[in-house]
Amino acid sequence: MLTHTLGFPRMGGNRELKKALESYWKEQTSKESLLKTAADLRKQNWTVQHEAGIDLLPVGDFSLYDHILDNSFRFGVVPERYVEAGYSSGLSLYFAMARGEAGEGGVQAMEMTKWFDTNYHYIVPEFTRGQKFYVADNSIVDQVREAKAAGFTPKAVLPGPLTFLSLGKSVKVEFNKFDLLPGLVEAYIELLKDLSKECSWIQLDEPVLATDLDEELKDGFKNAYAAFRAAVPDVKLMIANYFGTYGENLELATSLPVDALHADLVRGCDEFERLLELVSPDMAVSLGVVDGRNVWKTNLDNAVNNVRRAVDTLGSERVLAGSSCSLLHSPVDLDYENKIDPEIKSWLAFARQKCVEIGLIAKAVNGEDISSELLASRKAQESRRKSPRVHNPAVTERIQSLNSDDYKRQAPYSQRAKSQRNNLGLPLLPTTTIGSFPQTHELRALRRKYKDGQIDVDVYEGKLKEIIKDCINRQEKIGLDLLVHGEPERNDMVEYFGEQLDGYCFTENGWVQSYGSRCVKPPVIFGDISRPEPMTVKWIQYARSVSSREVKGMLTGPVTMLCWSFVRDDQPRSETCRQLALAIRDEVADLEAAGVKAIQIDEPALGEGLPLRISEQDNYLKWAVACFRLASTVVRNETQIHTHMCYCDFGKIISSIADLDADVISMEASRSDMELLHTFSIYNYPNEVGPGIYDIHSPRIPSADEMAELLSRAMMVIPRERLWVNPDCGLKTREWPEAEASLENMVKAAEITRKKIN
Ligand code: GLN
Ligand code: ZN
Repeated sequence: MLTHTLGFPRMGGNRELKKALESYWKEQTSKESLLKTAADLRKQNWTVQHEAGIDLLPVGDFSLYDHILDNSFRFGVVPERYVEAGYSSGLSLYFAMARGEAGEGGVQAMEMTKWFDTNYHYIVPEFTRGQKFYVADNSIVDQVREAKAAGFTPKAVLPGPLTFLSLGKSVKVEFNKFDLLPGLVEAYIELLKDLSKECSWIQLDEPVLATDLDEELKDGFKNAYAAFRAAVPDVKLMIANYFGTYGENLELATSLPVDALHADLVRGCDEFERLLELVSPDMAVSLGVVDGRNVWKTNLDNAVNNVRRAVDTLGSERVLAGSSCSLLHSPVDLDYENKIDPEIKSWLAFARQKCVEIGLIAKAVNGEDISSELLASRKAQESRRKSPRVHNPAVTERIQSLNSDDYKRQAPYSQRAKSQRNNLGLPLLPTTTIGSFPQTHELRALRRKYKDGQIDVDVYEGKLKEIIKDCINRQEKIGLDLLVHGEPERNDMVEYFGEQLDGYCFTENGWVQSYGSRCVKPPVIFGDISRPEPMTVKWIQYARSVSSREVKGMLTGPVTMLCWSFVRDDQPRSETCRQLALAIRDEVADLEAAGVKAIQIDEPALGEGLPLRISEQDNYLKWAVACFRLASTVVRNETQIHTHMCYCDFGKIISSIADLDADVISMEASRSDMELLHTFSIYNYPNEVGPGIYDIHSPRIPSADEMAELLSRAMMVIPRERLWVNPDCGLKTREWPEAEASLENMVKAAEITRKKIN
């Protein structure tokens, strides 16, 4: 029985790729040196996997930026603007597509969006009507040769054509992008032919099979793969589906003329038996039994049993064992971690350790003795199951004693709004911001010094207070109505809270690629969550003490904490989220008790937590909304609850947003030209809304008139008593001068509009 992974992290254990890319972009290093680092990393990744016991080594999973961008580049899907700007080929074109080029004669980057339900971002292909495809770049063939020359058995990996088309957008004129499939299939065939001369396995990633497919797409699958089969009869084709089961698409998938189907058993085992039944006699199954996107050790007994079950039914030649999805989404190597508590560390496995697990599973199934490893695995599972670090009876009890009142405000919004108006004394069209203010070099340097132990806590906190005071002064001068403290104490909106909650731990080097050279280090939720002490109260209290106006409390919501952490796999996500909600609830209560009259609970990740299949979305939204409500409804009527969301398809989840029953929601809107207001008006959104009227992702300073115009448009669909004036998102990535100038204009826009109303 063969083993494989669907892909390996690209960055390298010391984020070598990040460093190489960034110095290349700064023109500090040459193209040759970048390409050398890339080749070294590929070789190193193959070596690590091979040594761990992986037979088929992925080639094509590596990328200098993103694998979907690679595929666009590979098949000549290059938007015209790059050609017009003078980019014709090579790395300069590739990076211009990825990142744009600033300045005069510059060109905009392609859009980036989330890869399925992960925090990885891919570059959205832009298809035009009549788009021609051809093999513009066949470096994957060279890389296959590279792997062979180094002595490895390669398996070429590329996105499948249906997934590739599904992830793209049609530009210029509206048209059906699936009309392009035949042409795309031709181009794929040209490449597949070349690849089939060099390797015996080709993996085509088709995770759209984990989503709801319409008839057109299903037909597309049949046509494309029939054409592939006819064109390359001898190479082994594997379709890789992951991030979900095949579900309704299982019949379709098993009917396709390919040599193997990959199933993500981590995301669901219930169709496993049916898969074994339906799979055709000349087809193999690849079993994703090791979680590619979380950090926990595999339960080896379970994995071995599942793989054995398949081998007993199909025979060992028709079974492969592998990772559930690409290991791209897990950190590289646990051996780099020296500070994690040893007990917790004994429960973890990163990409390299996961490869070892896959190798062990194969050994066991192939009849080798791995009893000592199985024993160790059982011990790790057992220690995790029983550890007092994981289980906190007080948390369980508290959750069990919750009742429906704990999810409800005391009075409905209309009544609350009156008491809040009295309590806060804000004008019509109140102005506010989303929370963070510029995180300057000085601030970052200060934080670093503190973390490195060069300054003590008193010096650090004293400086933070100075920064908060300065931030308040500036907001007062600008004339904002509801102020914020500016969040200088946080480098990250999840990590800051995670560090203060029981049940969380942190890695030193657990980096995961987010996009391009950007990596994130998600904290790990290993146990029951609770909040030993207030987390933000002293900062808000201080801000209030130096302010003549009201200051909003500022928290990260439970769903966002969950989505941006590595989570437990020993209980449902909804359970973990509920625990997070209780911890936030405690903070909300303490803020109110400290006199804070408005509290914002950010949920930018609410939309991205949405399951891929429509049938699962309602259930998610139900518990996600319940968790937000659990976190927020502890307050009295006169305390105003705000929430903030950005970059999500509000239309899809508008009724759930309303169910949150936040008094005020602020969100991203200016880039879509206020389009989302239609959603709010059609739905008749009942509470207060602050559509962002200033795009904080651009350094441009919008004029007062332009923002006043956006406000007038907003007033056509949202009653003025329920309209707020604010930017799109937090200002932490901006510089002070532009932030101040823009906010001054924003305040002016509110004044102009108020005058018009009078
Ligand atoms: N309060 C956060 C900030 O202003 C919100 C960030 C976000 O929406 N991602 O930075
Ligand atoms: Zn935001």
